Amino acid sequence: MIKVGILGATGMVGQRFIEILDKHPNFEISSLTASSKSVGKRYEDAVTWYIDDFMPESVKDIIVSETNPNAVYKDVEIFFSSLPTEHAKIVEPKFAEKFIVASNASAMRMVDDVPLVIPEVNPEFLDLIEIQQKNRGGDGFIVTNPNCSTIALALTLKPIYDNYNINRVYVSTMQAVSGAGYNGVPSMAIVDNLIPFIDSEEEKMESETLHILGKIEENNVKNANFNLSASCCRVAVLNGHTENVFIELDGDVDILDIKSKLSGFKGLPQELNLFSAPQNPIIVKEENNRPQPRMDRNAGNGMSVTVGRLRKDSAFNNSFKYTLVGHNTIRGAAGASILNAELIAEKLL
Ligand code: NAP
Repeated sequence: MIKVGILGATGMVGQRFIEILDKHPNFEISSLTASSKSVGKRYEDAVTWYIDDFMPESVKDIIVSETNPNAVYKDVEIFFSSLPTEHAKIVEPKFAEKFIVASNASAMRMVDDVPLVIPEVNPEFLDLIEIQQKNRGGDGFIVTNPNCSTIALALTLKPIYDNYNINRVYVSTMQAVSGAGYNGVPSMAIVDNLIPFIDSEEEKMESETLHILGKIEENNVKNANFNLSASCCRVAVLNGHTENVFIELDGDVDILDIKSKLSGFKGLPQELNLFSAPQNPIIVKEENNRPQPRMDRNAGNGMSVTVGRLRKDSAFNNSFKYTLVGHNTIRGAAGASILNAELIAEKLL
């Protein structure tokens, strides 16, 4: 068993880490950290548990530790990070001097020598680890996963990008409240409502997607070469981000072929049979009222992205559109980091 810790273990994403890791065959939780308000408490007393499943017995009595890279963490090899970005920026590079850090936070995602990885899309970006260790020294390293809405979009774009020339992509999102963290959106602001602004989300979707679909050339990432415009809304859904995607190709649209490329898509995690890898990373639905967050967010244990309403866009030449749903705290956060760590364990440990 590989001993792991969770930085920011009491938050929305931290709780998902606990839920998934509790049943994991290769990773065992040995440390949980949070802010000073939680340090020294039993985990059960420190957290406001929001996950439908019961809190695992194994974590209830763990005493929450400080988030301090110089503290002693018993045998931990990998730290999963679900810290707020501003804190992650300060502590993650320090943790990475000694430990492997698999982070959800945006702080280090676009740093040149830090891999930003979705294992089905760009596993080869893990080659940047060697460069990172040369640049920074130390025994550990940081690997990051993209933001929650980007992961779902990039997974579905990958088989299209590999098989067609994409001219442009527009994406309009309807994002769940859990994406903003436990204290993120007050109920008075969101119930019976939607909010057409999520700070920095559109910029992250636009830059991270092109980065992930890019290539490593001379130790640097060269972005994918199409235009992408995102518009992001927060909606009154607990979990599961929905996205309407509009794509213009350079050439004819063959909907049946696109459908088969999406539903047949598999990547390295499926080939390696990694524990968290869903059998089908993309599920294509035919019903005209799907996907829906409540019905489809848990597909593939929350690790599959469901696509529906795939159709030609008759308003524009060479264009088509679809709707997707992905679980923001599983495939979009904790599950994504864990799949990254499984790939690292398989390839490097
Ligand atoms: P959250 O619910 O607000 O949880 C934040 C966690 O960080 C809590 O455990 C909190 O501990 C801890 N924390 C806060 N300030 C700290 C400090 N100064 N030192 C140490 N620990 C501190 O946030 P979240 O939604 O889980 O998001 C966590 C990270 O993942 C963020 O960077 C976010 O952008 C990213 N992310 C979130 C999602 C999502 O769907 N929610 C998806 C992708 C990425 P206390 O309980 O003690 O305050």
